[in-house]
Amino acid sequence: MASSSEPKPSAAHGPTDVAAYTRSLDCVHCGLCLPTCPTYQVLGVEADSPRGRIYLMRALAEGRVQDPQAIRPFLDRCLDCRACETACPSGVRYGEILETTRAELERQRPAPAVASRLARFLLRHVVARQGRVRFAFTLLRAAEVLGLKWLAGKLRLIPKHALAIAPPVPNRRERAPLPTGLHTPPAGTARRGIKVALFTGCIMEPMFGRVNRATLRLLLANGFDVEVPAAQRCCGALLVHAGLPEPARELARANLTAFADAEFVINNSAGCGCAMKEYGHLLGTADGKAFAAKCRDISEFLAAQGLSAPPAPRPLRAAYDDPCHLCHGQGVRSQPRQLLAQVPELQLVQHDKPEDCCGSAGIYNLLQPEVAEPIGQRKAAALVASGARAVVTGNPGCMMQIQSHLRRAGSDIAVMHPVELLLPAE
Ligand code: SF4
Ligand code: SF4
Repeated sequence: MASSSEPKPSAAHGPTDVAAYTRSLDCVHCGLCLPTCPTYQVLGVEADSPRGRIYLMRALAEGRVQDPQAIRPFLDRCLDCRACETACPSGVRYGEILETTRAELERQRPAPAVASRLARFLLRHVVARQGRVRFAFTLLRAAEVLGLKWLAGKLRLIPKHALAIAPPVPNRRERAPLPTGLHTPPAGTARRGIKVALFTGCIMEPMFGRVNRATLRLLLANGFDVEVPAAQRCCGALLVHAGLPEPARELARANLTAFADAEFVINNSAGCGCAMKEYGHLLGTADGKAFAAKCRDISEFLAAQGLSAPPAPRPLRAAYDDPCHLCHGQGVRSQPRQLLAQVPELQLVQHDKPEDCCGSAGIYNLLQPEVAEPIGQRKAAALVASGARAVVTGNPGCMMQIQSHLRRAGSDIAVMHPVELLLPAE
């Protein structure tokens, strides 16, 4: 804790969130987080490590940085994967310090470059609006079918790494949103008397519609009533990570209303689930905290409730890979493994460092390819070495990043979401 004799945040230069500043003082510079930090592993630079970044953010908060924008590249290169939080014996809440500082730097930013303005426009006015995301994916699919994506690659209008990351957009049937409203278990299913609300996500829906359909079917088969609220909005995670908390708060408030009647809010995207569990911090209100307390990852929820519909046999060798925002962000590690262990004939194999980041981190792999690429390559190599025929992970960004790097490594290992392996026989 900061005392009157300790340094204080500068009102002129530092973050206005004194709590986040105070948390930076918890860092005792021990360096135990360094070996777990993916950017430090790749770059080997202190300022690109958690300890170095905390030092810079603290200096900024105390008004000791002459040009605040000079520290931006070091913070931009952070994946916000939170591996450092897991490693830290002092309980430093790095994510909160980072997000507060990013928001402060964004507020002070002089005149953003055109590319940055475009990225912020897309985040605020497209990514954060599900209807526009759906339309954008319709356009992308049309561009692929017409060969325009190939042409744009040939003409170098789209960077090579961006083309490599993005898998083909699924067809319209695959991208169809889940029907909104109340879904009830099929006739003959023993009902649990619990109604849950399902968050469908901006990327999970158009890119992995099969996962949303499997999640709904799994919950119904296990006797839960499921509401898919029509008024739900984007979780706001990408906006928070970009230092734009105010538009993220608008989305959070809309979700509080959309999910007001839910006993549990179920999420199958680790990044979205983590962001929604942090609405208490984002909004700083009691109803934000109450909403966060209702949020559950699908694996967390089903492990606690127990499966009543036995999963169908899956004769497969599979490796489970922890999404950062599930293991480090939400502390959910054992539950997916515990559920997968109940799948008959599924052989779970270990691979090297399953909690290491894959390099996806929202749109990080698009913005920071020189760091994201080696991180992704390392993940793919570990999975190939494990001998698994499938990798199982619960976040759409991780699924795309891992799939892209496996394919580039010449591997045909399948990439699946845990819910797909937990379905009972039809
Ligand atoms: S959040 Fe991840 S990338 Fe950022 S400092 Fe911590 S460990 Fe490193
Ligand atoms: S492990 Fe924690 S206390 Fe040690 S340097 Fe990293 S953030 Fe600071």
